[in-house]
Amino acid sequence: MTRLLWLLLCISSLVSAQKLKKPDKLVLANLRTHIGYLADDKLEGRRTGTAGERLAYEYISEQFSRSALTPKGDNGTFIQEFEINEGRQVNPDSYLVINDKTLSLEKDYFPLAYSPNISIEFKAAIAILEKDNAWFWDLKEKLEENRNNPHFDLSDAIRTKIADVTSKGATALFIYNSSSIADELKFEPKAKPETAVIPILYLSKETIDKYLKNVTETVDIKLKVDIGDKKRMGHNVVGFINNNSGNTIIIGAHYDHLGYGEDHNSLYTGSIPQIHNGADDNASGTAALIEISKLLRKPRFRNNNYLFISFSGEELGLFGSKYYTEHPSVNISTSNYMINMDMVGRLNDSTHGLTIGGYGTSPMWGRLLSEKDDYFKIKFDSSGIGPSDHTSFYRKNIPVLFFFTGVHSDYHKPTDDADKINYNGELAVIKYVLHIIDETNDKGKLVFTKTRETQSSGKGSFKVSLGIMPDYTFSGSGVRVDGVSDGKLAQRTGIMAGDVIIQLGDHRFTDVQTYMEALSKFKKGDATKVRLKRGNQELEFDIIF
Ligand SMILES: [Zn+2]
Repeated sequence: MTRLLWLLLCISSLVSAQKLKKPDKLVLANLRTHIGYLADDKLEGRRTGTAGERLAYEYISEQFSRSALTPKGDNGTFIQEFEINEGRQVNPDSYLVINDKTLSLEKDYFPLAYSPNISIEFKAAIAILEKDNAWFWDLKEKLEENRNNPHFDLSDAIRTKIADVTSKGATALFIYNSSSIADELKFEPKAKPETAVIPILYLSKETIDKYLKNVTETVDIKLKVDIGDKKRMGHNVVGFINNNSGNTIIIGAHYDHLGYGEDHNSLYTGSIPQIHNGADDNASGTAALIEISKLLRKPRFRNNNYLFISFSGEELGLFGSKYYTEHPSVNISTSNYMINMDMVGRLNDSTHGLTIGGYGTSPMWGRLLSEKDDYFKIKFDSSGIGPSDHTSFYRKNIPVLFFFTGVHSDYHKPTDDADKINYNGELAVIKYVLHIIDETNDKGKLVFTKTRETQSSGKGSFKVSLGIMPDYTFSGSGVRVDGVSDGKLAQRTGIMAGDVIIQLGDHRFTDVQTYMEALSKFKKGDATKVRLKRGNQELEFDIIF
């Protein structure tokens, strides 16, 4: 009886739960326990760097030690800590006081990223534009005269103004906008522009109306600008089964989720912040990982070592998996392949739809996996790149497989709860993963093949692409290139991994989001220039989309 037939029998017996074997019942019960705990309100949505993340990684470590895994984190623990640099932030001890009234940060005012850290007191009036005074600049005129100028760049105009008023001896520059044209100005966390020598603050319309309506009236101003790095720590959980093999199979699943949606990656539109429990995303994958770490102890799986990693920082941009692949605790060249499970808890009971990504990353997958499956309706995606942690391993030329039971209406919402998990479906996915590991057990190290890479979509629709893979973990200003797609414009132009792209045509950008917006401004056939930093050099290339 072929293993496939044996597997189909196992899986179909799943349909009728009453025939479940004891070991399967135990796995099901454990899945309920793990997901029930990880998706509990107590963990507050397991946002990276929070107390909820801590409760989660302590729980997973505890489970890893019950599976008798060898700790492969820092200092003999299961925990691998890593820093997430999210650019800069205006620290809460910044203040702006006008005539003894304290204004509120963001609502009434905010410093621009050009501002130095400084605290000063002085008298000021809008009308007085003299040396040793604070200067006020209304954007109205500049915005109106450039209303129909597609090449107008406000940040350029601001830099010019700063230089101008500084040279005229201004002690501060307050920028405001009395026109009806929106200026879209905000504190740019990722911008690292040249710092000015005087404080640069933006005042809202309401602030001007309330405190500076009379342009000749002198007001007392006290201000402190304190801009600092926005950092937090993430924690991967890493455990190992050493079978003294030359090859190691990596099995991963991220455990972090969205918290109350503070990182702007939630699809919830309600006004009251709510806990995003993340039962399917990705308590389900984490629970499967824990159970697989027990099931791979069986003697027949001894031809490979097994490395189990529960990543944090995935929801912020694959931070944990990227960090692990750059700081591996087990020699990464022994990696055989990587299996990633992200959202495996909501198998549709009627279609049994299962997506398997990375199908093209090793010829073995073509030989081993087939769409014709009695239980699952399998959809293969050949690319090694996708919206989850396997991407970081694919980038290290490691064959990957990515398991996903599909998006649903609770995705990235507070309603992604444990009572909606299809536990039998998840057990079937676990068995499918075990079957693949079983089938490759005597096949030695798999061959790696590169796959076509699809551009991940952001805001704005794209008529063109450069063919780069952005580095989402880059905290500097611009877009750092993590890789270039074969034969695409970037490669043909000579753009390389490590370059930091800062401008396309007239559009300067500070991060992936603003890059995507700039890209959406171009169409096929457009000739323009791309500007980038390579080390200390700034280079410019002519390109035609
Ligand atoms: Zn996820």
